[in-house]
Amino acid sequence: MTEKRVYNFSAGPSMLPVAVLEKAAKQMLNYENSGMSVMEMSHRSSSYLDIFEKTKGLLKKVMNVPDNYKIVFIQGGATQQFSMVPLNLLKNGKADYAITGAFSKKAAAEAKKYGDIHIVYDGSSNDFKHIPTQDELDLSKDASYLHICANNTIYGTEWKYVPETYGAPIIADMSSNILSKPVDVSKYGMIYAGAQKNMGIAGLGVAIIREDLLQDVAETTPVLLDYKLMIKNDSMYNTPPAYAIYVLGLVLEWIDSLGGLEVMKERNEKKAKLVYDYLDQSTFYKAHSDKENRSLMNVTFTTPNKDLDAKFVKESIEAGMTNLKGHRSVGGIRASIYNAMPYEGVEKLVAFMKEFEQNNQ
Ligand code: PLP
Repeated sequence: MTEKRVYNFSAGPSMLPVAVLEKAAKQMLNYENSGMSVMEMSHRSSSYLDIFEKTKGLLKKVMNVPDNYKIVFIQGGATQQFSMVPLNLLKNGKADYAITGAFSKKAAAEAKKYGDIHIVYDGSSNDFKHIPTQDELDLSKDASYLHICANNTIYGTEWKYVPETYGAPIIADMSSNILSKPVDVSKYGMIYAGAQKNMGIAGLGVAIIREDLLQDVAETTPVLLDYKLMIKNDSMYNTPPAYAIYVLGLVLEWIDSLGGLEVMKERNEKKAKLVYDYLDQSTFYKAHSDKENRSLMNVTFTTPNKDLDAKFVKESIEAGMTNLKGHRSVGGIRASIYNAMPYEGVEKLVAFMKEFEQNNQ
């Protein structure tokens, strides 16, 4: 199965571990003697409920989720969470947002429809190269919460610390770095993510919410955007994204079998170091992010000019690597090296970068 696969550096949907794909393929027609595929199962059947409970339990175990947090599976991706967060968690109509990239900007714009949103930091003037330090955050004393995007997929920057607030819970969009390293869940009010990077396939959003933050929503709130209702119905008010939840279970099994998030972190740091070390000694390539804010998951850089960026992308495809083109809004090169990207894929990338540099000086 593996010989025809390419190294796919896509920012998402992205590579899945081969072991996960193989297991899904093996179970495709007949899941554990049920005589059917998971895709064909009623979400209320005992076979499916076993998968559902196993997935939830594994997520709790792997992320070490404290008992006072609820896990909820929702359709609509991370973007739907941009609406659900203010609809559910604005207490006095006020919230703080840090803008460190395109997705946090979108989240803040969505929240502005529902409340008085204060921007505590806006990195647009420095091309989103930088993550604010604690001192650079203009925090409000009365915010219902502080929203951050933990890893900025497009710009390749990542928060390396959890900010202190005046008591406001932190809501973190971890779409592109969840499961890449251990996080202390208790430091957050809520964590959410779209699944299509480190959690499996598109169609699923995952939220982990501290129970005491749940409150009744305005009567006009659509039922599917109500966390309390979704949790009361254990993510099954309607049909959940059943297959995506099953794939998340397989991904979590894979992470657990390798030793959990400490091991993911070691693997990811080793891969990221290989590329960043090469970028640092090169005068040809230029890394986008400030050194101290570099993402472990999305490495962004440029060659000396746009023509060479395009040539790099074209030749990398011929060399068996795909999706290295930077996001359409920023250009350059972006290598997304999520959990499933093997070390060998990054070695191949760095060897290619070296050769490209030599040939295009
Ligand atoms: N937040 C981050 C950090 C992302 O990287 C993305 C997508 O890439 C999103 C939000 C939007 O996710 P979705 O497409 O699941 O709505």
